[in-house]
Amino acid sequence: MHLSRFPRVSLAHLPTPLEHLPRLSGHLGGPQIWVKRDDCTGLASGGNKTRKLEFSMAAAIESGADTIVTVGAYQSNHVRQTAAAACKLGLGCEVLLEHRVDKPTEDYLKSGNVLLDHLFGANIREYPAGTDFDAAMEEVAADVNGGGGRACIIPGGASNRIGALGYVNCALELVNQANERGLIIDHLVTATGSAGTQAGLVTGLKGMNANIPLLGIGVSAPSDEQEQKVYELACETADYIGAPGAVERGDVVANCDYVGEGYGIPTDAMNDAVLLLARLEGLLFDPVYSGKALAGLIDLVGKGHFDGAKNIVFLHTGGSAALFAYASQLNLE
Ligand SMILES: *Cc1c(COP(=O)(O)O)cnc(C)c1O
Repeated sequence: MHLSRFPRVSLAHLPTPLEHLPRLSGHLGGPQIWVKRDDCTGLASGGNKTRKLEFSMAAAIESGADTIVTVGAYQSNHVRQTAAAACKLGLGCEVLLEHRVDKPTEDYLKSGNVLLDHLFGANIREYPAGTDFDAAMEEVAADVNGGGGRACIIPGGASNRIGALGYVNCALELVNQANERGLIIDHLVTATGSAGTQAGLVTGLKGMNANIPLLGIGVSAPSDEQEQKVYELACETADYIGAPGAVERGDVVANCDYVGEGYGIPTDAMNDAVLLLARLEGLLFDPVYSGKALAGLIDLVGKGHFDGAKNIVFLHTGGSAALFAYASQLNLE
């Protein structure tokens, strides 16, 4: 796994810290909980997409592009980080936003990530849920090219084999950090959505024979669908880095019991988890991804799922900008 073979631009503050959460660990009374602070990647309030964009943006520039075309949910963290990266690199940014949540509040439509998309000057187009975004992005790219520009499409979440390299890199970084301080990681837990994060991590962990089981906690799809999506991308990523066959189907595990009514719809357990971490550790988690994943982690610790483990690392994928979009839907009592 020699990642310097792949084009890369520097966007993230790396390595991100690996921090112990003594108060949360004491409160849960189980294994010690650590967070890998990918909410601190540094670009426009941080988050996991920044690592992926280091590789995706470099590939776009190498292809001669002057404009990025990408897609996300209306409050997408990926779109916000892409819009910021495009500014930093002097590229145009065409954004397709999907209205996935019914009856959005005023905050949802105006604040949070979408406010920042506007701040970064992205050209925003809005679409109904269920739009064929592959076709829609091709149309936008054709428009850009027709106007004399040169478009490059980055898929939702930057979740292809190029973006996933960012999380292969994160796996290397995390294992190095643990080795330096003599920490034995028994489990790694992450939110999983468009799949690139989990796919990159599992490829990196397996590629270096780290023997650290990885659990994805889903935020949208049912678990069989989520696992299959992650597995397919992990296989492509493993081929791409020259480690074909590194990932087996059984290495990919996703628990999707904490989605609630659907993507982006708050749950009580998410709300409790976000408040708990704020008040015990001064940390910000988000309602759509990291908060639901955290609710899953807390519930699974309570159920003894990790019994026998000493140390669990939770990958904090970021997303706090979305808190402001959910201001009126959080119960702060
Ligand atoms: C996109 C995102 C995820 C999920 O990562 P994928 O690579 O899409 O699976 C998790 N947390 C946050 C905050 C995100 O923005």
